[in-house]
Amino acid sequence: MYENKNIRNFCIIAHIDHGKSTLADRILELTNSVDKREMSEQILDNMELEKEKGITIKSRAVTIKYKSLDGIEYTFNLIDTPGHVDFNYEVSRTLAACEGALLVVDATQGVEAQTLANTYLAIDMNLEIIPVINKIDLQSANPEKVINEIEEIIGISAEHCPRISAKTGLNVDQVLEHIVKDIPHPKSNCSELRALVFDSFYDSYKGVVIYLKIVDGSLKTNDRIKFMSNGAEFNVTECGHLLPTKMQPLEQLNFGEVGYLIAGIKDIHEAKVGDTITLSENPTKNALPGYKAVNPMVFCGIYPIENSKYSILKDALEKLKLNDASLVFEPETSSALGFGFRCGFLGLLHAEIIQERLQREFNLDLMITAPSVIYKIQKINGEMCSVDNPSNYLNESQIQFTMEPVTDAHIYVPSEYIGTVMEFCQEKRGEFINIRYINSDRADINYKLPLNEIIYDFFDTLKSKTKGYASFDYSIIGYKKSDLVKLSILVSGELIDAFSMIIHKSKAYYKGKKITEKLKEQIPRQQFEVTIQACIGNKVIARETIKSFRKDVTSKLYGGDITRKKKLLEKQKEGKKRMKKFGRIEIPKSVFLSTLKL
Ligand code: GDP
Ligand code: MG
Repeated sequence: MYENKNIRNFCIIAHIDHGKSTLADRILELTNSVDKREMSEQILDNMELEKEKGITIKSRAVTIKYKSLDGIEYTFNLIDTPGHVDFNYEVSRTLAACEGALLVVDATQGVEAQTLANTYLAIDMNLEIIPVINKIDLQSANPEKVINEIEEIIGISAEHCPRISAKTGLNVDQVLEHIVKDIPHPKSNCSELRALVFDSFYDSYKGVVIYLKIVDGSLKTNDRIKFMSNGAEFNVTECGHLLPTKMQPLEQLNFGEVGYLIAGIKDIHEAKVGDTITLSENPTKNALPGYKAVNPMVFCGIYPIENSKYSILKDALEKLKLNDASLVFEPETSSALGFGFRCGFLGLLHAEIIQERLQREFNLDLMITAPSVIYKIQKINGEMCSVDNPSNYLNESQIQFTMEPVTDAHIYVPSEYIGTVMEFCQEKRGEFINIRYINSDRADINYKLPLNEIIYDFFDTLKSKTKGYASFDYSIIGYKKSDLVKLSILVSGELIDAFSMIIHKSKAYYKGKKITEKLKEQIPRQQFEVTIQACIGNKVIARETIKSFRKDVTSKLYGGDITRKKKLLEKQKEGKKRMKKFGRIEIPKSVFLSTLKL
């Protein structure tokens, strides 16, 4: 058995806004890890988007030194993780590189949906959990009540946990001592190198930079390494620690350490997150367990507004994928939107973040089609198939029945909102399961909810209906039979594929009406009459018309012959008929943009 007694690898987990990033800032300050001059708020959230939204999207790893009260200097590897459900995948990856977790709970809020979700992930991975009660500087803080909740709901002892203010720094020193005392140091049973790749990104000068945890053995500059999944070999040109504001090259990384590696890897596909790295000369036989492959749950089409930007979009998606293994995409074409990609995401926030990153980091203007989940169709001929893309939906005559994914959803709210939340879930085709009281004034409402109801604007609406008090978490539990249809939109009789969607029958009419009304408002008038129809199969369920311009063809006639006037009008009518038949209308891109936003 090898031991590395002076290292502590830990992460911070919490519900969103409970103070993870602020605590990370204080820990960096207390350990003098960052120059005063370089210190900024939420220093680990270095993506512009993270600062703006105030949320952590990417996990960040940093190495810091801490001299404890026992006089020994320890190396801490701190990993900040995202709190939102869509990024659970990111969380579970970073947990695999840690031996312990600080569980931050806001003393004014208590245990929330994501507190639990993340804690269960950490417990599953055998991490030592240190509860930390935060925001005790606030008047409304009730640490005793929150400690009770942690003990009751999570079932871990919290009696002696630190009660801190990450904002003022009060008692944060206690947290550091708890890390030293309570979190186990790394141990290893073998001497061959095994390193877990837990993240990577592309640097235009250095190529692929890999973040790794050395689980066994050690790694030196100039070592020849091998990726276990594909056998690809490279020479290490640089390895070292990730300091808060820079990468610090080192001769060697030993087991238990977290750091980075550069090996002249140019192809971003070679460095798969979750892979095991070993040495070419003295390889290990057994790869590390790696990560569960994640399955995207929400799909949509992404198209560049300027068709010429297609290859830039392709390149951008590939680069983002390196940084975010959960993103999947494949090329698709739309008759209305041109060349683009069908992309899969873990959830809607994930989709939104990727879209914004594409726009900001790669300067791309994009069109996004309506999000969809994966539906199942039982065909008349006995076969079963899956579709996420409305373009691949089957003809009604081939369908015996359809199924949609359902989730087990938990909503945490103050008791006074129970009625509102239940009504809302009912509206979203939810099936009530249970209510559990967390304490005298807060409840956990459990519903079975269709995933496709959650992916639109469920959480936003839930928040506004509960004045921001609700927290929400869900997991997919399977499929159920459901009456689904494909809603198609026709303009002048022509199918506009970008607007097609798979939807529950009960919602199709409302949605069809909304889209046709919006299109009527948006499409410019033409020389001829334009019809806009929403259809299920051949059946029209909503219809609007845009009247044509009426050019006054008779204006040049002065008085006189009425038959001549009639003739001219007849001729105009004929012409319009012809135009209507053949007249294709170009729908401006702006119309797609605003209608797809619905
Ligand atoms: P995260 O989403 O868990 O990373 O949370 P943040 O660290 O971004 O904090 C969320 C908000 O709570 C920010 O506005 C912080 O300034 C605030 N905050 C964090 N810790 C404290 C604290 O101890 N006291 C007070 N009053 N506010 C805090
Ligand atoms: Mg944060």
